[in-house]
Amino acid sequence: MSRRLFIAGNWKMNLSPSEADTLAQGLKKELIDETAVDIAVAPTALALSTVIARLKHTNIHISAQNLHPKISGAFTGEISGEMLRSVGCEYVLVGHSERRTIFGETDSFINEKCHAAFRSGLLPILCVGETLEQRDSNQAALVVCSQIQKALDGLSADQVVAVTIAYEPIWVIGTGRTASPQQAQDMHAIIRGFIRENYPTYVAEQLRIQYGGSVKPHNAAELLAQPDIDGALVGGAALSVANFVGIIRAVNNSK
Ligand code: PEP
Repeated sequence: MSRRLFIAGNWKMNLSPSEADTLAQGLKKELIDETAVDIAVAPTALALSTVIARLKHTNIHISAQNLHPKISGAFTGEISGEMLRSVGCEYVLVGHSERRTIFGETDSFINEKCHAAFRSGLLPILCVGETLEQRDSNQAALVVCSQIQKALDGLSADQVVAVTIAYEPIWVIGTGRTASPQQAQDMHAIIRGFIRENYPTYVAEQLRIQYGGSVKPHNAAELLAQPDIDGALVGGAALSVANFVGIIRAVNNSK
């Protein structure tokens, strides 16, 4: 079963709307004919409308970086899935390790966000990953599978198959370190096995699992060549046209 590769760029808390527009313009120019791979970018909430307008009618899809589970109300500073959908977002990152560690998001809050994403018509990119301590004490698989099980609780099989899971070991995010292609593949196979045990077969076969953590043009091809790696969630390298496009081009040298 072949799955289309999916490369997403998380711009995090970077770029003013006009800087984001410049980056989007550069990507549009370079990627206009790129059809081999699914692509998305996740600008800040403030830059969403500008980037959506710039990338309208292109093959580059738009993700939000976060959502609040409620539709509306007294949640100062928050944005609902419905609001994100109304401006044209299609995807939303859920449970990024920075949200888990810096903002204290729990598994049950992340589960609410996954449900809210589907309620509002957004597709979640669910981020999971272990710390270095957890890996060193052989807890990585347990931690990652538990994060997935709790995040997906109560979703139907047809919803789960539409989730993208981004495996992002915390010790490689923004550190310049990467898991070896074999380390990454091993965890992706564990994740797919967990999905296979808990959902109908088609879910495990079709669900896409991205790898994230210091993915760059020079290491992307080898990572993306692994059988259970179906794309990448890219942070730092997504802020440069040359690097993000370089990663996408590496797809041609992988599968
Ligand atoms: C991320 O934050 O999702 C990420 C993968 O960052 P980086 O590529 O910079 O490690």
